[in-house]
Amino acid sequence: MSALQQRFAGRTLAVATMHGKEEAIGPAMLQQLPLAACIAIPDLDTDRFGAFSGEVLRGTDPRTAALHKAKHGAEHSGHALVIASEGSFVPYPPAPFITCDEEWLVLYDARDGRSWAHRHVALETVAGGASCATLAEVRAFAQRMRFPSHGLVLKPHAHWRAGDAVVKGLADGAALEDAAAKVIERHGAVWVESDLRAMMNPTRMGVIRTTAERFARELANPCPACGELHFTVAEVVPGLPCGLCGMPTEGVRAYKRRCEACGHTVLEPRPDGRMAEAPMHCANCNP
Ligand SMILES: [Zn+2]
Ligand SMILES: [Zn+2]
Repeated sequence: MSALQQRFAGRTLAVATMHGKEEAIGPAMLQQLPLAACIAIPDLDTDRFGAFSGEVLRGTDPRTAALHKAKHGAEHSGHALVIASEGSFVPYPPAPFITCDEEWLVLYDARDGRSWAHRHVALETVAGGASCATLAEVRAFAQRMRFPSHGLVLKPHAHWRAGDAVVKGLADGAALEDAAAKVIERHGAVWVESDLRAMMNPTRMGVIRTTAERFARELANPCPACGELHFTVAEVVPGLPCGLCGMPTEGVRAYKRRCEACGHTVLEPRPDGRMAEAPMHCANCNP
């Protein structure tokens, strides 16, 4: 029996989410893994691990936060096989003026305590916030944030302070203006920001779906030496040669896959087949 069969055959995957993410995560997992079913864990409070709107700050890195959520889900539901997600909207490292969506998925198996993780960074985001002093400003900002297909959050201040009322999940024009008018009347302005919870932000839900599809494919990829699941990329190898002078650049040359069980590694070429870097990215040709 394959490692994939041993791990997943006939089992139910439980999704630790309050925000409808099972619809984005379940289909990919069911397609790639020999699971019996995928369900959402009901009545789970995952906001205690951190909320985008700032009332609860995440106390740890996103991978650990997702693992904590999955373990909490296992304890709460009695299901052994649990998957959880954690998203962060952070400056994109190569271009810090752009906001990217960094999504982590962690799969946890309480049967033996093992866990597997996958990270995906997407530049496709609908995320932002602005202070608005008038309803006209609120309307203009809402349009830029693709309201009402994407929900909004209202707060008196950008950084949440104890006692601040937070209005979440706004997806209706009349409700938005009504709530915004009240905050402006009391505080002189209102902070309007994207509701980044997956069920309120279809762009983020799409990124979680992509993350799940990639994670499921990686999980289903067996180690060629020992057959263990999740023979995944452990290292990005730079040094793509410059197309003009041939010197190694910072560009990705290859991906190194490594088996966590037996340590076997395989160097894999870029999936796009590119063999040379553009001279404009070469420190020798374009210093
Ligand atoms: Zn192996
Ligand atoms: Zn060069």
